[in-house]
Amino acid sequence: MIKQTAAALQSAEQPLIILPHISPDGDTIGSSIALYYALQQLNITAYVIIDDKLPDDFSYIARDTVLTSEQFAKLKINYQTAVCVDMSDINRLGKRIPLLSDKYVINIDHHRTNTKFGDIRCIDSNAAAVGEIIYKLLVEIGVELTAEIAEALYIAIVTDTGNFKYSNTTPNTLRIAADLLEIPFDRMRAITKLYHSIPRPKVALHAAATEQTRFYADGKIALCTVSCADLARYDALSEYTEGLVETIRDIAGVEVVIFLKERAAQSVKVSMRSVDEPDVSQIAFDHNGGGHKNAAGFSLDFSFTEAINYCEDVLIPKVISCMAS
Ligand code: AMP
Ligand code: MN
Ligand code: MN
Repeated sequence: MIKQTAAALQSAEQPLIILPHISPDGDTIGSSIALYYALQQLNITAYVIIDDKLPDDFSYIARDTVLTSEQFAKLKINYQTAVCVDMSDINRLGKRIPLLSDKYVINIDHHRTNTKFGDIRCIDSNAAAVGEIIYKLLVEIGVELTAEIAEALYIAIVTDTGNFKYSNTTPNTLRIAADLLEIPFDRMRAITKLYHSIPRPKVALHAAATEQTRFYADGKIALCTVSCADLARYDALSEYTEGLVETIRDIAGVEVVIFLKERAAQSVKVSMRSVDEPDVSQIAFDHNGGGHKNAAGFSLDFSFTEAINYCEDVLIPKVISCMAS
């Protein structure tokens, strides 16, 4: 799988495009940027295309390598190959789905719910982050792991493992991280940006949302919500909800968290976390979403109030039945 994908990347018709998923996280961006720099070393032209604002925590690694789809369209580039990074299904492209039409698609992912789209599939659900898979691909290709590649891959792995806390962290994850640390890059810049520079509006938002969290089933299930009005009240950016669902999951006694974030009038993002059982990726998959056993998500085309009612009437009973079985 690694060999075949490495060969496909090296022999792909140039230029190619690299597509991170919507609502980008450190893994999809770190992995995409590392791949971009690696291809540059091989004299292969690539474009990383994403329309979402990159979170401030790690946007600096993208520097000027990232284009919006509008900027890319203006360049009128003729490309044949698209690489999807950290994406369980093509809906995670959002409005960029047309970029795949009639193209040769390389799907590099680690979600157990991956729909196996594309012409080349490099999917390893045992990898804690796509960053691990990209690392193996680059070693296979023989790319020199520069400081910028190491930093991007380190951010990918750190963010998807919760700084090596989550159960997806394996001996191999730590070996790869150790190999990356052999390369001199500014590790503390990455860690400080990710974990030690929380904007005050984000702290205020998390405090209020934590305070308002409702608990069910003897405190085993938590429902946490953030509306557009909450964001406005605390002068918070949309990305400031990052990490909140994990804070709630870490409360003693909590086994499952449902987090609702209002995106727009009829659009609510649902994030689920479980400490062990149940497998929330299955529940997300049943709602046209996806993810991992203990971290998954999907969207509801409901008003915020309807989404809260749906959680109380349908989702929480479903979680309770999964916990009992
Ligand atoms: P999040 O709750 O956004 O932090 O995402 C947790 C995990 O679920 C990540 O691995 C995401 O890729 C995945 N995920 C979140 N939302 C969706 C969705 N709408 N469709 C598929 N996978 C998702
Ligand atoms: Mn991701
Ligand atoms: Mn990932």
